[in-house]
Amino acid sequence: AKQQGKAGFVRYAEGMGEPVLAHMQLGGELRRALDNDEFRVVYQPIMRLGDNRLVGVEALVRWHHPARGVVGPAEFIPAAERTGLIVPLGRFVLRETCRQAAAWLAEFGPDALREAGLNVSARQLHDPDFVAEVAGALADSGLPCERLVLEVTESAVLRGQQVSRALYELDRMGIRLALDDFGTGESSLSLLRAFPAAIVKLDKSFVDGIEIDDGHPGAADARQAVARAVIQLAHALKLDTVAEGIESPEQVATLRELGYTLGQGYHLAQPMTADGVSRLLARQAAA
Ligand code: C2E
Ligand code: CA
Ligand code: CA
Ligand code: CA
Repeated sequence: AKQQGKAGFVRYAEGMGEPVLAHMQLGGELRRALDNDEFRVVYQPIMRLGDNRLVGVEALVRWHHPARGVVGPAEFIPAAERTGLIVPLGRFVLRETCRQAAAWLAEFGPDALREAGLNVSARQLHDPDFVAEVAGALADSGLPCERLVLEVTESAVLRGQQVSRALYELDRMGIRLALDDFGTGESSLSLLRAFPAAIVKLDKSFVDGIEIDDGHPGAADARQAVARAVIQLAHALKLDTVAEGIESPEQVATLRELGYTLGQGYHLAQPMTADGVSRLLARQAAA
């Protein structure tokens, strides 16, 4: 298990048997890593469930630590948020994703990739320069604003006026906002009224086990009921939906029956390097 120590030390890395990150001053390490260009962006395809074609990607950050190898975001995003380093780190992910998405569009044409998304934390939305930074990244890369998706979680959105203003401004610029991990918060439904979302991402916790049909009422029925309610709401509000964390063909079948057309998950495609996405796009262009 992972424990956060008093001074922001991470004592045990999740899923590892030893205290890999023990007594490491993560803040200082992250600063150094940023200066050293140790962060990389991988992209997980978002696929059309009907024909398995890539329609978009989500950018996910990785830390290529010189000694520890590849470290996942769960290990350092919380510390990056606490120390404020998420602001420069997020700027890097934003600029890199815009640049890469524009390159894909230039190479494979406007129909190859509808959009590229990235995760934005509350701390970034609070930064008064954030909106200008997004505009700058779009301008410098040449990526059209409607091709960019910013994924935010409910807890980030519910952070008051400043964040709300930023979100409305981004929406006015034509950037699409996605509500991430949808359904896990406490006021997901009322949030949709208060926030200009274009996309809802059904959280993985509702997809896990959704395919199980044993003829008895149970957890799978509850998940299906939530997934059904979310898609009805999305249709009524004219939002796109993406089902997250799809790990089996049975889940694809169930989600399609419920009306989902877009999905993301290990069964469809793993997070991959930009080159991996390029190969996928090349294969799709040839097909
Ligand atoms: P998220 O935004 O919900 O991203 C989806 C996570 O689920 C990713 O984990 C992805 O690799 C994983 N995933 C995708 N398909 C499956 C599946 O079928 N099964 C399972 N078990 N997992 C799947 P990852 O890359 O470790 O990222 C974890 C979280 O870290 C993200 O959750 C997001 O909240 C955060 N994160 C990642 N990159 C960034 C970033 O650049 N900025 C910020 N602020 N947060 C980030
Ligand atoms: Ca996300
Ligand atoms: Ca998510
Ligand atoms: Ca999540």
